Amino acid sequence: MQPFDRYADLLTCIQDNGHTPQILGRAPDGQPIVAVKSGGDKTPAIFISAGSHATEQAGVSAACALIDEIETEHQLYTIPSRDPIGMNGLAYALGLSLDTTPNLGGLDDVAPLLKKRGEVLYRESATVVALIGEYSYATSNLYNHRVGDWVEALKGRRLFFAASNPGVECAYTLIITPAGEVLHLNRFHDTPWAPVEPRCTRDLMAAIQPGLTLDLHEHGGDFFWFSARHQRTSSDQQWEEAMASEMIAAVAASGVALAPSDYLPGSFFTQGPHSVFWLNPRQRGEGLNLADFAAHTYGLAFTIETGMERPFAERVHTAKIAVQKAVEVFERRHAGCSSATP
Ligand SMILES: [Zn+2]
Repeated sequence: MQPFDRYADLLTCIQDNGHTPQILGRAPDGQPIVAVKSGGDKTPAIFISAGSHATEQAGVSAACALIDEIETEHQLYTIPSRDPIGMNGLAYALGLSLDTTPNLGGLDDVAPLLKKRGEVLYRESATVVALIGEYSYATSNLYNHRVGDWVEALKGRRLFFAASNPGVECAYTLIITPAGEVLHLNRFHDTPWAPVEPRCTRDLMAAIQPGLTLDLHEHGGDFFWFSARHQRTSSDQQWEEAMASEMIAAVAASGVALAPSDYLPGSFFTQGPHSVFWLNPRQRGEGLNLADFAAHTYGLAFTIETGMERPFAERVHTAKIAVQKAVEVFERRHAGCSSATP
């Protein structure tokens, strides 16, 4: 099993499976940002999303497969890739600014190209940031950098870079906000100034009012974990906790490694059941990501994190196990009378 090579391949796969995606908007290069409806007619709707960090492709493949594999009476809406540009890779992203799409053999080719063709704004040991046309490009991840003349120069612009895993075949998209924060596409859900990709997600959510939101991600390790969100009502909170416990039990039963017992993904998380972490967005700052926004506005929400050091097929399979279990628990919640609690 391989990741999709290009965003167009994902769209073809969806169409080959008999779906006509709804176009929510267009990325700055004109590619459509799409949602696919499957499942049944019952509400509340379920919302699955992936690929806001385009380097995390197991989530994208899992989301695409789950469009057809989830059997539910509930409406199921999926945005399988929230960053079409990034999914097409760094050479593609560079091609949006150059006269032609460059041939990139690997990460080592990026710095010489930026120096040759771009206006270099920052250069520090191996790190280069350059502006070419409307977009900027970097040799490494500069997420959360807050200082430097280059940040000032790039306010309001996009910054693409390739990560060592998977390499230049996917580009990671950073956004330099008007305030000079260097953020990524899984932010901006509660900010009026937002790039088109999160605006599309936000608009879809407003239309479908999801009772369950699952955002598929990956992290740099070799184990599985996910984050849960504190809920607005005690009933939602009870179901979020019950769902989290069943999801992690299902993944553990599949034999996949969970997080080491002393692992904490960041200072703004608190430990739940083993390998489940509660995320507090106010402690983190940077505004609300998709799952934060879903919990703040609609209901149950999780961010699922497979480990990118594991084989691709296993990561896809693991994401699917977690999602399937969440949907199963959600159906149980809404199967009987509405006052049911776990
Ligand atoms: Zn991610």
